[in-house]
Formats: sequence, C-alpha cells, structure tokens
Amino acid sequence: MASRIEREQKTLKRMIHIYCKGKGHAVLCSDCSELLAYSNERLDSCPYGNKKGSCKSCKTHCYKEPQRTKIREIMRYAGTRMFLRHPGITMGHVRDGKWKD
Ligand SMILES: [Zn+2]
Repeated sequence: MASRIEREQKTLKRMIHIYCKGKGHAVLCSDCSELLAYSNERLDSCPYGNKKGSCKSCKTHCYKEPQRTKIREIMRYAGTRMFLRHPGITMGHVRDGKWKD
C-alpha cells in the first residue's frame, strides 16, 4: 500500500500535468518540471511523515514563495478540471487513495 506521501506526490504530479497541458505546453515545460521536483522534495522532507492528514490542512508551510503561490494556482486549476471530468470523484476520494489509475 502506498504511503500518504506517495499518494500526495502522485496527485500533485497529475495536477501539474493537467495544468501544464491546459496552458498549451505539449510536454511538461521546464517551469512545471522544476516545480514538480521541488514539491516532491518538500513532501519527502515533511516533518510529519505519514502521520498527519492532508497537506491542505497542515499548519507547517512546506512550500516557500514563489512556489507556494504557483502550487495553489495549479491546485485550483487542476482540481476544478479533475472534478468536472470525473464528477463522481471528490477530492476526498483522491486524498483517501480510492481513486485508482
Ligand atoms: Zn508548464
């Protein structure tokens, strides 16, 4: 079973891909892949590991500016699109790892 961190990384990767494609980039552009690498690194060094809940409700701000603003923009953008494309899937399902590829 995948850890919470792994699930979070997977969801984020998916979101960044949706966002980048939506912005008209054919492949993941350097900005987006840098951001992906950055956030994976942050998640890996999360002080709470797998014990805490979603990063959204976390009191520790793993991401520093300007990446933080960009990631929030991506989550808003991709979150809406994932919901529209799969109306039965809520963010809760994604968080709980019930959404299989
Ligand atoms: Zn991009």
